[in-house]
Amino acid sequence: MAFDSKDTAAFKGVWVFCEQREGVIMSTSYQLLSEGRKLANDLGVELCGVVLGKDIKEDYLKALGGYGADKVYYCNHELLDVYTTDAYTKVICDLVEDKKPEIFLIGATNIGRDLGPRCAARLHTGLTADCTHLDVDVAKYKEFLKTTSTIDVDNTVFEENTNLKMTRPAFGGHLMATIICPRFRPQMSTVRPGVMQTQPYDEAGAAKTVIENVNVALSKDDIHVDVIEVKKAAKKLVDLIGADVVVSVGRGISKDVEGGIKLAEELAGVLGGVVGSSRACVDAGWITADHQVGQTGKTVHPRIYVALGISGAIQHLAGMQDSECIIAVNKNESAPIFDVASYGICGDLYKVTPMLIEAIRAA
Ligand code: FAD
Repeated sequence: MAFDSKDTAAFKGVWVFCEQREGVIMSTSYQLLSEGRKLANDLGVELCGVVLGKDIKEDYLKALGGYGADKVYYCNHELLDVYTTDAYTKVICDLVEDKKPEIFLIGATNIGRDLGPRCAARLHTGLTADCTHLDVDVAKYKEFLKTTSTIDVDNTVFEENTNLKMTRPAFGGHLMATIICPRFRPQMSTVRPGVMQTQPYDEAGAAKTVIENVNVALSKDDIHVDVIEVKKAAKKLVDLIGADVVVSVGRGISKDVEGGIKLAEELAGVLGGVVGSSRACVDAGWITADHQVGQTGKTVHPRIYVALGISGAIQHLAGMQDSECIIAVNKNESAPIFDVASYGICGDLYKVTPMLIEAIRAA
């Protein structure tokens, strides 16, 4: 039967695009599968992972079951070895048109941000970009709203439906917008890496998952670009998302940028962590963009987050306020960062940070 995105009743199941680079599945995929598992349980449907690539190890495909996938659609083709928009869009759209999933989640990585909207447009459906929360269960969604919004949740009437509620920051992070796509399927969403928690690996799930090899109809004529060479970034990017401790610097280091970053590196070193930053430092060219925490940077949930000379703008808080323990050093006692801090030190970072380093070394 012809594909019709408006025939909402014909769509079933939750899908996750499981991105791989050089044959290795990216951690974002595990986060999305864990989140997808909850949605699939609430809807009582199957969760499927979708992997595109060339000669991916079977163990890697099976492992997706350990994070919740009932089934893995594996599209194996030499033209899928390296990402190209044309090839990936074609293969994904062919598969969606054939199998008709109800929900399709894609990580908001560089590839996902390119692939998601292209597929949504071709499939004549909607896409909510850069989501930070997803729900199909109205009761659970109300609980989420109670923790994030000022509306009177108990006295508000909610439509009891299973439309995916896709929440994302809007208007520069000043409000959280919940978006639904009630008339078209699949409901598509790109999800910020690092926001969803990966569930513990389940051996039994991995053993049970079914790998379905998909017949890929793809030729060079479908692709309008030639990838001549893939060059890796010369410098290893900082792994903020997986870090246990993040020590971030803000504009407060402007008096001595080099000295401020050195102090942050030293503190991160003694705590076994990495250095992050506010956007102000990235915009000023003091540190590279891979260090940026916040709405347009990375979302982190470390055990310890140290903010040195960061005011606590809402866009910065969006990326770090779920950290287990927040330690803020700021010379302005009314800086908003102190509102979210577990421990606040009002003082000059150039004086306080060496004392912290010394105290930790001595402990
Ligand atoms: P400031 O706000 O200038 O704060 C500097 C702080 O340092 C002050 O509180 C000051 O009291 C303190 N200070 C100064 N000297 C010292 C000292 N010697 N010792 C101790 N404290 C000192 N920002 C992000 O961080 N991440 C994002 O992802 C992000 N995305 C954005 C997206 C949009 C659409 C927009 C509009 C903005 C975004 N921003 C983001 C920018 C954000 O609004 C703020 O401008 C930014 O976070 C401010 O950075 P800051 O706290 O380092 O600087």
